[in-house]
Amino acid sequence: MGGESQMMEKYQVLEKYFGYTEFREGQEPLVDSILSGRDAVGIMPTGAGKSLCFQLPALLLGGVTLVVSPLISLMKDQVSALTQAGIPAAYINSSLTLSQFRRALDNARAGAYKILYVAPERLLTDEFLSFACSCEISLVSVDEAHCVSQWGQDFRPSYLKILDFIRALPSRPVVAAFTATATAQVREDIVRILELRSPTLVTTGFDRKNLYFEVQKPRNKFEAVVRFLTANPNQSGIIYCATRKTVEEVCERLCSLRYPATRYHAGLSAEERRQNQEDFLYDRCPVMIATNAFGMGIDKSNVSFVLHYNMPKNIESYYQEAGRAGRDGSPAQCILLYGGQDVITNQFLIEHAGENEELDPETAEQVRERERIRLKAMTFYCHSSDCLRQYILRYFGEQGEPFCGNCSSCNGEFELEDITIEAQKILSCVKRAGERFGVKMIIDVLRGSENERLVWFGLNRLTTHGILKEVKEPRLRDLIHALILQGYLRVTDDQYPVLKLTRKAGKVLFQGEPVQMKVVERQEKKPKKAKTQPAGVEHPALFERLKQLRHEIASAQNLPAYIVLTNAALTDMCKRLPTTPAEFLEVSGVGQVKLERYGEQFLNEIRSYLEET
Ligand code: ADP
Ligand code: MG
Repeated sequence: MGGESQMMEKYQVLEKYFGYTEFREGQEPLVDSILSGRDAVGIMPTGAGKSLCFQLPALLLGGVTLVVSPLISLMKDQVSALTQAGIPAAYINSSLTLSQFRRALDNARAGAYKILYVAPERLLTDEFLSFACSCEISLVSVDEAHCVSQWGQDFRPSYLKILDFIRALPSRPVVAAFTATATAQVREDIVRILELRSPTLVTTGFDRKNLYFEVQKPRNKFEAVVRFLTANPNQSGIIYCATRKTVEEVCERLCSLRYPATRYHAGLSAEERRQNQEDFLYDRCPVMIATNAFGMGIDKSNVSFVLHYNMPKNIESYYQEAGRAGRDGSPAQCILLYGGQDVITNQFLIEHAGENEELDPETAEQVRERERIRLKAMTFYCHSSDCLRQYILRYFGEQGEPFCGNCSSCNGEFELEDITIEAQKILSCVKRAGERFGVKMIIDVLRGSENERLVWFGLNRLTTHGILKEVKEPRLRDLIHALILQGYLRVTDDQYPVLKLTRKAGKVLFQGEPVQMKVVERQEKKPKKAKTQPAGVEHPALFERLKQLRHEIASAQNLPAYIVLTNAALTDMCKRLPTTPAEFLEVSGVGQVKLERYGEQFLNEIRSYLEET
């Protein structure tokens, strides 16, 4: 197939198989690059539509496209979505039996698939390698490519095998890499480690305008969850917890209150994980309580909230997890329930994780060092009273407006509280303790603790010992964080970070400069009305009927509803009210195959709705 006609055909493929008339931001240059034989790197946020950038070229290129992807759940999901759209695809990973594995390879060799998903550790096995050398591989697409980098939040040594695999091929295919992690180091590592050849680099904006961001500091997290679920009934969402134990607890308590909840973490049997994930995907249990083991590649398009019961260990993870909400572009809420204990839990996880991994001690320490820095940035997010969206965008190297109007900082009502006296006491305590201690110890001194370590250092003899006895620990933490954010204190990047005064602190201590802290009015007093009801659906009654129809179709085929058609597609249907196949084809997300499979049923439903009303 010539280059010219490929370029023209890409729009036809976009419509026919994917049901879209337009590319989203960033997709077209990546598709073009791959089609013209040039390597490509796509850095786009979760939900932006990275898959299409390699799936579409796969259909136009001769031979097979290999997609390297880290998680089994992801592969299964993507392969069923492709199959639904009429695209021949399969996956190869450890969930297959040996005979299934061989059958898949035989089919692939016979040209049965255009797209083959492969787990990285399979690439260099003899059987796979001999298959790969015997057929035409036109494109190797590396999904979640940040896994090659130690700077990324999810380094996987098995990803380093990808390069060896590519080198072992008789002729080098086009190589494309995709990730949602935008930091410069990760980007450089991807290009260097995968030996990409002057790739087309596309970085799209990281902003997801439909996501609402909020940080709450509730006294009781579980109550905050219940309050949220009550205010947002009948919605599907994920509640992320830091540990398996918390997942169990939250899930059990919600179930006992009759919420349709299920759970997911690495400690469950493979069978239970599969079952629970399906219950979630099929909306039998629309609320999923999970550790971060859940969700990479979960492309459930009607997730309308992501709650974090605990603060994650970095902004990358947070944005990725939160980004699983609102993937089809509908408004969605991302709420983080912060508690001071979260910082301590994460510090513990950083210091004690990864010891049995394949990293040498020096590398392991480097990785930990970077994780400490990232944790700090995450903690500041929770304490920031400035625009949360801007904070995230700046973290990823984008500018962002100082006021987004769609986060708890921008929308919340603040009071400015004068904290000059407390600030003076805290700063003076840090100084008298010799600027050698971290937040926890300074809080202990201020509160007048007599713990062993404190006494051993002689800190109980300081004049500032017990000087803020009456102030509770969480508030002291808030005060100290406010001082850090406003540049009166800084935290060192060491393994045991300590507080130091900045020059600015002198003004408060010696010149009486006033200090203020923004405090959000307590959210607990007045629960906000949800502002993300499926807004903008033009015929809600029809929408419900179409959803019901979709449910019946999906159940009959044992598929998740969103794989049949997304909520965005149903919404568009209610807007366009198609009554002919040609009109049906114009609905966003409807391609030729979906028209053939489901067109008649949906058209009938719409026609009878129109007749009745
Ligand atoms: P990512 O991998 O970047 O997180 P996905 O590839 O899973 O995102 O795509 C997210 C959603 O966006 C999917 O539901 C997909 O169908 C939809 N999508 C992708 N491209 C387009 C497009 N050009 N127009 C409309 N929707 C799209
Ligand atoms: Mg993806």
